[in-house]
Amino acid sequence: MEFDVVVIGGGLAGLSCAIRLAEQGKRCGVVSAGQGALFFSSGSLDLLSRLPDGTPVTAPLEALDELARQAPRHPYSILGADTVAALARDSQALLARCGIPLFGRGAQNHYRITPLGTRRATWLSPEDIPVTELGQTLPWEKVLVAGIEGFLDFEPHLVAGSLATEQGIEAGAAYVHLPALDPLRNNPSEFRAVNIARVLDIAKNTQALAEELNRLAGDAQCIILPACIGLDGPAPLEQLRAAVGRPVRLLPTLPPSLLGLRIFQALRQRFCRLGGVFMPGDRVLKAEFDGRRIAGVYTRSHTDIMLRAQQVVLAGGSFFSNGLMADRDRIYEPVFGADVWGHADRGEWGRAGFFEPQPYLQFGVKTDHRLRALLNNEPVENLYAVGAVLGGYDPLQQGCGAGVSLISALHAAQRIALSLKETA
Ligand SMILES: Cc1cc2nc3c(=O)[nH]c(=O)nc-3n(C[C@H](O)[C@H](O)[C@H](O)COP(=O)(O)OP(=O)(O)OC[C@H]3O[C@@H](n4cnc5c(N)ncnc54)[C@H](O)[C@@H]3O)c2cc1C
Repeated sequence: MEFDVVVIGGGLAGLSCAIRLAEQGKRCGVVSAGQGALFFSSGSLDLLSRLPDGTPVTAPLEALDELARQAPRHPYSILGADTVAALARDSQALLARCGIPLFGRGAQNHYRITPLGTRRATWLSPEDIPVTELGQTLPWEKVLVAGIEGFLDFEPHLVAGSLATEQGIEAGAAYVHLPALDPLRNNPSEFRAVNIARVLDIAKNTQALAEELNRLAGDAQCIILPACIGLDGPAPLEQLRAAVGRPVRLLPTLPPSLLGLRIFQALRQRFCRLGGVFMPGDRVLKAEFDGRRIAGVYTRSHTDIMLRAQQVVLAGGSFFSNGLMADRDRIYEPVFGADVWGHADRGEWGRAGFFEPQPYLQFGVKTDHRLRALLNNEPVENLYAVGAVLGGYDPLQQGCGAGVSLISALHAAQRIALSLKETA
């Protein structure tokens, strides 16, 4: 099998890179072993919420010079402020072309309401979740937070308590009881957001939910629900809003996250419509080198048939997705054995304090300034590393996970398009 580009990993980074290349007519294959971080995410996309020294960031692009001073290995610092600014705009445009409706003003942060009812700064949020501009509160005086009876992944009283304290609004909590969900209750492990959505998305069940909410909501101006409706599109939520006659907002739940899943589905659909080849459930095991270039890769399902490519993108994610691995005394990248930022002393990998920044989150693949992966301190000529597999940043403490994935992916796509043009 022959491609212009093979992308290893079908998460946010791999798919964004592949879409950008497919949009330019390149023949791309994406090999994706399992579910990426989007399936577990809030659905909000972070650009930069905090500097390494803990300073909160309101305007990410204005903080990039200081970030470069504090974190010179950060992918944004490697790419430079101007490139990051241009690619942040390109990322928003790409998400819009994929039909993903997001709230967010340029490169300014806003607050999203978390599943605990607290606030967290972010860059872009699904339009269905409750958000406020920084320094502002929700636009309602009275809201109802409605949980689903028996659904343990969402605690409405906790959310309502936090909203009352942090937003200074009247927030009630209640549970809806829907007989249509009873068959799911028989197996608690089936009683998950995505399965609940499959039931609630059926029009007669959406109507029953609306009736139950109307009974409970009184004069609440807005209803907040766990994100358990609208799996395949906006129609069920629109039907619900019309039937309750007021805004309905969704909060992310524990995985699988419907809000993240919808982003994944939209990206994959766009890639496949552009003629891209998506290979789910397959894993790249090893590569064949031709000097300092990669000739192709071998996968679990294609066994001895090599996927040949002129350019290869490593977007395998971090430890969470097995894009990076650890054994007793080393951190390694399993496909190419690329150089990684790590720490020889295992005692330095983690810190005892649960809420402290964890050093291992900054471990990851080393690159040159074009994001080509390094092997024995030299760049591999046609191997780019993008997204969570990269080292030098902490997506959790710095609130920059999705931003790094999108921006590094689009940068690699740009470089690859240029080099394919040169060799054409
Ligand atoms: C649980 C969790 C929640 C998060 N929530 C948020 C959030 O709400 N907002 C935010 O901004 N950031 C969040 N992040 C940060 C996240 O890292 C990025 O936002 C981003 O989604 C990472 O995308 P990625 O494509 O780089 O990696 P991933 O999403 O991890 O995707 C990597 C993919 O590569 C595949 N893969 C790995 N190795 C191979 C191989 N050898 N062959 C084939 N396929 C392979 C994996 O199966 C996986 O599908 C979260 C991270 C985690 C772990």
